[in-house]
Amino acid sequence: MHDFLLDDDRRALRDEVRDLVRQVPRQLILDMDADRVQFPVDFLREAGRRNLMGCRYPRRWGGRDLDWVSTVMVMEEVGVLGYIFACVFGVGAELVCDAIVLHGTDDQRERYVRPLLRGEIFAAECLTEPRGGSDFFGTTTRAVRRDGDWVLSGQKRFIVGGASADYFLVYARTDPDLPPHQGISCFIVDRGPGVRTPYHYGLMGCRGGGAARVVFDEVRVPAGNLLGELNRGVDVFNTMMIPERLGTAAMTIGAARPALEVATTYTTRRKAFGKPIRAFQGVSFQVAEAAILLDASRAMVHDTALAVDRGAPADLVRRLVSETKKFVTESCQRVAHNAMQVMGGIGYTTVYPVERIVRDLRLASIWTGTNEVMSLITAHEWYREHQRESSAGLTRDAEGDAAEATAEDEKHFG
Ligand SMILES: Cc1cc2nc3c(=O)[nH]c(=O)nc-3n(C[C@H](O)[C@H](O)[C@H](O)COP(=O)(O)OP(=O)(O)OC[C@H]3O[C@@H](n4cnc5c(N)ncnc54)[C@H](O)[C@@H]3O)c2cc1C
Repeated sequence: MHDFLLDDDRRALRDEVRDLVRQVPRQLILDMDADRVQFPVDFLREAGRRNLMGCRYPRRWGGRDLDWVSTVMVMEEVGVLGYIFACVFGVGAELVCDAIVLHGTDDQRERYVRPLLRGEIFAAECLTEPRGGSDFFGTTTRAVRRDGDWVLSGQKRFIVGGASADYFLVYARTDPDLPPHQGISCFIVDRGPGVRTPYHYGLMGCRGGGAARVVFDEVRVPAGNLLGELNRGVDVFNTMMIPERLGTAAMTIGAARPALEVATTYTTRRKAFGKPIRAFQGVSFQVAEAAILLDASRAMVHDTALAVDRGAPADLVRRLVSETKKFVTESCQRVAHNAMQVMGGIGYTTVYPVERIVRDLRLASIWTGTNEVMSLITAHEWYREHQRESSAGLTRDAEGDAAEATAEDEKHFG
């Protein structure tokens, strides 16, 4: 975020995060990218020790009583280390804990939020199934009552932190006779008997997060680990989509920023035809486009964060986080693409980190809901909003401003 938008407290927080980011050894980044490290435990422990995770939650549960505007700033700064660092930072602290802070009991917050924010335990979020991620409400994971507890069975796919998490946030069908939106519940499932991670994915980028398939085989879940109301997993899902998509957007900016910084330095130093290549508009305009897209992305993320902080209506927030996720992730992929392009061949090699950033960022438009799904939601909410506003007579009738506006016989709608 731009300095002039930050008050002193936020600037101090930003500097705290930058300090954390500075002290991460480059070897860890390399080891994660090479799949030699499956999960950056020490990094999360250190972030927890510095009380940098979940800063928008109440102090009582381990946060700092801050807000979403502060959170997106933190996520951007963590993203500078690499997309996967922000992802593992975000999944437990900003997604799973968000659900428990908003929908959980005090006992659940005490057991699952506080230690996670201290960096002592880790969590994973289990939505996607082998049968599909976009059709979330088609979930086939089941939980049935047995002797007062729940017994949960099913499989979840591509779960970041799957092999390292101490507990999982899992959605499961609890009433197969109800329509999907009304028959799914959310559970906190401890790692224990019946939980297995038989498959670890080989990824194009974003390595080192331990993405795995997680199998739940007749796992006993205490009744007290139901999160929120029975059959109302949809309520948890709906609030979780805010950190899921807004957090993703914010961290994508941080992950793309170093690519532009590296390319800016490179194009200043590299010469062709007797001049620094930045003197060619073909080069500097690509750098300019990248700078514009980063600034536009940051402004959009900031606006959406502010809308959430100010309690904008749920429908509007749904549209804003969806369009922000789509715009920012696509813009930032463009930023990384431009950075590589202006560096020529060397940008494609491991001499510079741009190739890793390009690989990492490709995921951004796929996970936390594909960008096609973001368009689906945006279109749905946009049409509803337009209908509401126009039928309430809240907007000027722009159609009537055409010279031939009264030619009703020419207006055919099929
Ligand atoms: C590295 C990685 C990490 C991940 N981490 C997690 C995690 O921690 N937890 C978790 O729960 N999930 C995670 N995911 C899953 C991710 O969120 C899903 O992959 C994503 O939601 C898409 O689901 P899918 O892969 O099943 O694709 P599908 O749902 O099968 O979609 C395939 C294609 O069809 C399109 N499509 C589907 N339905 C529609 C529609 N109605 N309209 C238009 N287009 C449509 C999609 O946009 C996509 O292009 C991760 C994925 C990856 C790759």
